[in-house]
Amino acid sequence: MKEAGADEIINNIADLIPLIESIDDQQHEIPLLLTPGPLTTSRTVKETMLIDHGTWDDDYKELTQWVRHELVAIGNASEDNYTAVLMQGSGSFGVEAMLGTAIPKQNATLLIAANGAYGERMIEIADYLAIPHVVLQVPEDQAVTLAAVEETLAAHPEVTHFAVVHCETTTGILNPIETIIPALADKGIITIVDAMSSFGGVPIDLEKLHVDYLITSSNKCVQGVPGFSIVLAKKTTLQETEGNARSLALDLYQQYRTFEDHDGKWRFTSPTHVVYAFAEALRELEQEGGVTARTHRYHTNETLLQEGMQKLGYELVINQNVQSPIITSFKYPTTSFNFRAFYEYLKERGFIIYPGKVSKCDSFRIGNIGEVSADDINRLLNLIKTYTKEKLQLPIGS
Ligand SMILES: *Cc1c(COP(=O)(O)O)cnc(C)c1O
Repeated sequence: MKEAGADEIINNIADLIPLIESIDDQQHEIPLLLTPGPLTTSRTVKETMLIDHGTWDDDYKELTQWVRHELVAIGNASEDNYTAVLMQGSGSFGVEAMLGTAIPKQNATLLIAANGAYGERMIEIADYLAIPHVVLQVPEDQAVTLAAVEETLAAHPEVTHFAVVHCETTTGILNPIETIIPALADKGIITIVDAMSSFGGVPIDLEKLHVDYLITSSNKCVQGVPGFSIVLAKKTTLQETEGNARSLALDLYQQYRTFEDHDGKWRFTSPTHVVYAFAEALRELEQEGGVTARTHRYHTNETLLQEGMQKLGYELVINQNVQSPIITSFKYPTTSFNFRAFYEYLKERGFIIYPGKVSKCDSFRIGNIGEVSADDINRLLNLIKTYTKEKLQLPIGS
């Protein structure tokens, strides 16, 4: 019957009612997002959004200031040296605001190291904004290295700014910013890190890195909902950027000045519900035990997932020593693998996964971040085991 396509089989009519009830429960369950943001948030984070708030209200402005303060603390930095500037919109709005404001209109060249879609996006932004730039292209399945960056710099002494992605969400590679950024800061180059999908989920020490700008957003590892991006900036660097911006709404300097000069007032209408949800998410990060505890949970999820998947015969796209705890890419198990069908099967059973983005090989991705536990990963692995055995009819080792 299974071969003929049956999803469930019962041997006794008395088993029918419990079966219908269990299918009903599955369907009413809110699916878990195993995606790199938006991701699964807690019920309490979602519940904060049931109340509406005014934008010029003092409580709201205070909350905004507290959020900015906490973000600098998560970056292990002092507010004497670093500041957090919030920007309406998704993560890319923050990247565009930052690139458009950080780089002066004259006598500046940006070097972008790209090993995936988000590095490519920075190149596209530089193209749109007519920012002179040099590109270091690195294969998608390899990490950016300091040696490669230094080689490019030697050929391009005109470079004044450098940008790289931390966790390249395309594959899940973690680029080694700990070696690259301080070396470039030493040379007087202004450094920019797209840490969108890693900040809050992997420890990052802004002061130790001497990084000038780091970008993240409300809907990644802090586990809030989508609505604003965040630029953590070295104050002395940001303070030099007045008049650089190529856009009124995305002027990061003016955004910073408004927060500073008006006690946490946003420049234009802000996503109030999202800010309240984010503040709750920050409190929950603290309750979990901070970034260290969260990293540990994500690591546990990632290890369980990739070990379990490999046992089921799924191969990894990238090498284990550059793998982040954030998201994992798997190759299709066969050339005729139908990702859509696999996706739908898992979705019907409560899990939303992610298509692949690697151009060289057919792959799919599973995220380890968000309100997701080892139990959830084990439930997912069981489903994938059944699917692999029964629908794909592939042999499974154990
Ligand atoms: C999510 C993400 C972004 C921003 O994407 P948006 O869709 O604009 O939120 C940028 N860089 C990386 C590495 C990301 O993971």
